[in-house]
Amino acid sequence: MQFKDIVGHGALKQSMIKSINDGRISHAQMFLGAEGSGALPLALAYIQYLFCADKGENDSCGKCSQCHRIGRLSHPDVHFVYPVALSKEKGVEKSSDLFREWTEAFLNDPYFSLADWMDFIGAENKQPTIAVEESKDILHKMSLMAMEGNYKTMIIWMPERMNNQTANKLLKLLEEPPDKTLFILVSESSQMLATILSRTQLTKVLRCAENEIADAIIQQHGLAPEIASAIAKASEGNYRLAQMMVKGEVDAEFNMQRFQAWMRVCLNMDGLKLSEWINEVASIGREKQKQFIGFAIKTIRQSILLGLNYPTGINPIDQDFLNKFSPFISYENGAQIAEELNSAYYAIERNAHTKILFMSVSIKIHNYFPQRKKSA
Ligand SMILES: [Zn+2]
Repeated sequence: MQFKDIVGHGALKQSMIKSINDGRISHAQMFLGAEGSGALPLALAYIQYLFCADKGENDSCGKCSQCHRIGRLSHPDVHFVYPVALSKEKGVEKSSDLFREWTEAFLNDPYFSLADWMDFIGAENKQPTIAVEESKDILHKMSLMAMEGNYKTMIIWMPERMNNQTANKLLKLLEEPPDKTLFILVSESSQMLATILSRTQLTKVLRCAENEIADAIIQQHGLAPEIASAIAKASEGNYRLAQMMVKGEVDAEFNMQRFQAWMRVCLNMDGLKLSEWINEVASIGREKQKQFIGFAIKTIRQSILLGLNYPTGINPIDQDFLNKFSPFISYENGAQIAEELNSAYYAIERNAHTKILFMSVSIKIHNYFPQRKKSA
């Protein structure tokens, strides 16, 4: 994890780098930041910069063996503690029992939330806890010699999930730390033992700036600037939320293209183009097909409203197509097409044969269209 992979926080990154280069490394630190602020990836980027064998002025090199192993979460001197759902049946009583899952979740999205993590380990309805068993493990890991002769480090994610017994044991360790150890507590809430807070050096990780989120999603997903800035505004500095909105937006764009192509084919009933379209949609899988059908129903409804001159809240990018398309959709045939799509949705859920299903729905839609008009 390099600093450059984390959205925003330019000044904070510089001050972290400076403190490391000046040798001012507090052995117990608290990174306090709201969900989606990037506090967890920042903690890892900080450790990576500390360990990097070929540090640059502004970032770790990302290439040396230290960087490489830290990036894969497989460095023997970088440990993680995080809440888990305790389970006797599954043999889960501490973080290391779920380390494989933790690595997978983090590498998939370092901005993941506590709720995402609980979903990921199939424990949506359980209490995330850092239990007392964990404290033995912490003590054990941090008392060993550093494998590489440098620091032994530990990131404790969501320390507010420790019960008092665990927190008190950790407190002892923070008061009398073994030599060359570094603890970074990464928290979303300052609601925890005051004694722990008072033992740590506090770094506040603010919410990401709107323009930084907008730039990041334009760069990564190629969204139009006005859409990116609307998403950035709505995300309120939570990059995880922005990413989720982007995903919806990107799917909507794909779905709109797919919908336009389909309606053209249905209007003109070009057999070759229809079979190409069906092959494409058959390849996207049932979940996406269902999403697409949902999108198509919504768009048909918008077209009905547009024909009746009701305000529809249509995205301006789609307005042009819908202006041309809505004359083909009356209240009556629109309702019939929506009904047909609705049945198709349930047929997909019941594992209908996709190609046959889309062929039959396409022919029905063609027949619902006014027959004399032949282009859109
Ligand atoms: Zn490096």
